[in-house]
Amino acid sequence: MKITEIHVYRHDLPVHNGPYRMGHSEIRSLSTTLVKLVADNGLFGWGETCPVGPTYAESHAAGAVAALSEMAPGLIGTEVLPVPLHRRMDGLLHGHTYAKAALDIAAHDLLGKHLGLSVSDLLGGALTDRVPSYYAIGVGAPDETARIAAEKHAEGYPRLQIKIGGRPIEEDIETVRKVWEVIRGSGMRLAVDGNRCLTTRDALRLSRECPEIPFILEQPCATIEDLRKIRPQVGHGIYMDENGTSLNTVITAAGTGLVDGFGMKVTRIGGLHPMRAFRDLCAARNLPHTCDDSWGGDIIAAACTHIGATVAPELLEGVWLAAPHIDGHYDQENGLRVEAGHIKRPQGPGLGIVPDDSLFGAPVASY
Ligand SMILES: [Mg+2]
Repeated sequence: MKITEIHVYRHDLPVHNGPYRMGHSEIRSLSTTLVKLVADNGLFGWGETCPVGPTYAESHAAGAVAALSEMAPGLIGTEVLPVPLHRRMDGLLHGHTYAKAALDIAAHDLLGKHLGLSVSDLLGGALTDRVPSYYAIGVGAPDETARIAAEKHAEGYPRLQIKIGGRPIEEDIETVRKVWEVIRGSGMRLAVDGNRCLTTRDALRLSRECPEIPFILEQPCATIEDLRKIRPQVGHGIYMDENGTSLNTVITAAGTGLVDGFGMKVTRIGGLHPMRAFRDLCAARNLPHTCDDSWGGDIIAAACTHIGATVAPELLEGVWLAAPHIDGHYDQENGLRVEAGHIKRPQGPGLGIVPDDSLFGAPVASY
């Protein structure tokens, strides 16, 4: 089965009750990029990539379209199988894993439809049909964040993440304490995510002033060097998120004991094929991790849920979806939703969703 056509679409995803705040950015609406791969047997598959604006990572929406235009003509005729596809993509463009991820996800969808298997089957097989999620609360006032924490616990989320940074550390510390007051003893796990925004000074202070609160500290500072500096001085577990840009970085971080786990995003690492290797590396080192995407619609949500379903439950920190924060679905019936803090694994071949492509308008490019 070979690729015969590639169509690229852009679509806007409005953030409801926005803006959503992280330490360095505010999100009001996001431009997502969709890819439709058509094969020589007439089947097609969908992929998606949605950078969180231009400042969150080394990616942006216009960059995704440009990278796809660089690769797409050279991909016509390529086998719809992950290994030849990635080899061909890497031969056409260095880096730009977030754009390659959209093609990788579309290839998995297409291959699953061809073989009559779900994407989780292609990734080794699902261990569950009900995948745990976690709720991520944007940077906000301490009392309001604690109120949302109580609400999300009542809804059934097994884990909570609170965003910090971009303001005095005293306010972050107060927020962490107020949240802990409402979830302590409930069994709800807590992650405190700096999204690279803290100085090492403030990360150390947060950890030292909250020694009794068992949160994990997610990507508090900007660089691997910062993480290495604070590592021997903090009492809390450290997870790497934004610095985990490749399998190479992950191997070094896991192999040197730099971190206790990862927040991982399917598009950052280049799609489901490298994500599968990441999952297995983490299993070999007994390191917990998430299976997230930065943001995006039902296609990316389905991809994250399928890989999440294949992770050993004791190592899965949850699958984060943008669905609770954005309006609308590509597939009204099978679109992914978080219910009682969990996500149903889509059934049916491929990703298990059928996007209504009339929502996306005409392609911005076709090859
Ligand atoms: Mg994070």
